[in-house]
Parts: sequence; C-alpha cells; structure tokens
Amino acid sequence: ALEIVSLSKSFGKTEVLCDISLKVAASELVCLIGPSGSGKSTLLRCCNRLEEPSSGDILIGGRNIHHGTARDLRRMRVRTGMVFQGFHLYPHLSVMGNLTLAQRKALGRSRSEAEAKARLMLEKVGLSEKAAAYPSELSGGQQQRVAIARALALDPDIMLFDEPTSALDPELVGSVLAVMADLKAQGMTMLVVTHEMGFAREAADRVVFMDAGVIVEEGTPDAVFGAPKMKRTQDFLQRID
Ligand code: ATP
Ligand code: MG
Repeated sequence: ALEIVSLSKSFGKTEVLCDISLKVAASELVCLIGPSGSGKSTLLRCCNRLEEPSSGDILIGGRNIHHGTARDLRRMRVRTGMVFQGFHLYPHLSVMGNLTLAQRKALGRSRSEAEAKARLMLEKVGLSEKAAAYPSELSGGQQQRVAIARALALDPDIMLFDEPTSALDPELVGSVLAVMADLKAQGMTMLVVTHEMGFAREAADRVVFMDAGVIVEEGTPDAVFGAPKMKRTQDFLQRID
C-alpha cells in the first residue's frame, strides 16, 4: 500500500535521507527504528508531504503522491493518518469536536455522519465516555488515543506513527500500544517509528533499522533483534538494552 522508491532528502548541503527504498504491504505493520537524527521522522514526513523529498518517489495505493492537483494532495493527506509524539489536539474543542472537524472540512461529511463515525472510532480506542471532555481533562494516553481516533475517522489507507508513546508517562504507554496492536489485528497498514522494542518485537511484521539516512538492515523482528547481521545494528541494539 505504501512504496518508497529511491528517496533522498537534503537540507541545504546535509543529506538526511540517502536512496531509501521501502515497501509496506497492505495490512502490514513495519516498525522503523534507529538512533536520534537518523532520519526516521523526515522519512515519515515525506510520506504525506509535510516534507518534500529532493529526489525519489512515494506511491500510496499505487498513486504517486507527488503528482496531481492541490485537491489530490488534500485528499492524499487525509488518507494518510499521521500520529505524532505530541498529540496536537485542538484545546478549545471537545473530543467530539476534534473528531468531527476534519471529517466535515476535508471529507464534507454532515454533522450527524461525522458524529456517528466519531462515536465508532472512540469505541475502538476505548474512550466512548469521553466524547464531551476537553483535551485538558484527559491523560496523555487518552489524548493520544483521541488523536488516533481522529486520524482513523478519515478512513486512512495507511497510518503513520512517529514515536506515539515517547511523550507519555510509562504507565500510560501500554494503553496506546494496545490500541495500535488492535488496529494491526483489524488489518490496518501501519508504519511506526518507535523506541518501544517490545512492541516492535511482538507486533511488527518487519523491522527496519535506519542509521545516518540509510536503511542498514531489515527483516522479521526475530531476525533483526535475535540475530542482527550488521555491526551498526548490533551496536544500536546493545546500547538500548
Ligand atoms: P529522533 O529519533 O531524534 O526523532 P529522527 O531519526 O527522527 O531522530 P530526523 O528528525 O528525521 O531524525 O532528523 C534527521 C536529520 O535531519 C537530523 O540531523 C536533523 O537535524 C536534520 N533535520 C531535520 N529537519 C530539518 C530541517 N527542517 N532543517 C534542517 N535539518 C533538519
Ligand atoms: Mg524523530
């Protein structure tokens, strides 16, 4: 469902991504791991054009995201659900308001249609009783689950997660990872940047290790964590254990 082909990205003279090629098949969960500054966020941001690559192509559902009109771009953005480390909820809107705004603005859904969808998604993330609450009244884990529900309400083809649990208190991490594992079980296509090696090991179909803008090694969790081939991967995994 997602195909990244020979992607490179420079900021000025610094090459941050160098000839990255990566496929995420439909219903596959790929975890992207690697040291700070290796280019993980930049790669994810290129996938919904928050960042423009210097060269290379990205296809979602077979369609090149760098072609097409401004309208195509807007459509592609909603079909690419992005969840960040910070939750980016609108503080002045209730949970229901947060979940319906983009549905109405970007997809043109009616209020009742958007609210019905929002309720379904809140149920999915275990927060049905919080529809009327404001973000400030929720825990970090609950806010992140609302952010996930908000992205899901737009019927994305793929969900991109950038360290969704790294801003959370340790006791709140599990609830968010559980929602992500659930999504995977329901067949969502997911690319997840994470430092949660336990999650990567258990939930990922494939693990991709990046360092200094290149993919150093990729394989099943068992292969990458159990028997990493490359020295750089071994060193990284040793450091974080
Ligand atoms: P972390 O694990 O710390 O989140 P990361 O793997 O997500 O790191 P990126 O945020 O993608 O890394 O950054 C990769 C490199 O690109 C870094 O050296 C960073 O300083 C540089 N970089 C990122 N965004 C910009 C920008 N807008 N302008 C200049 N350099 C940038
Ligand atoms: Mg990052």
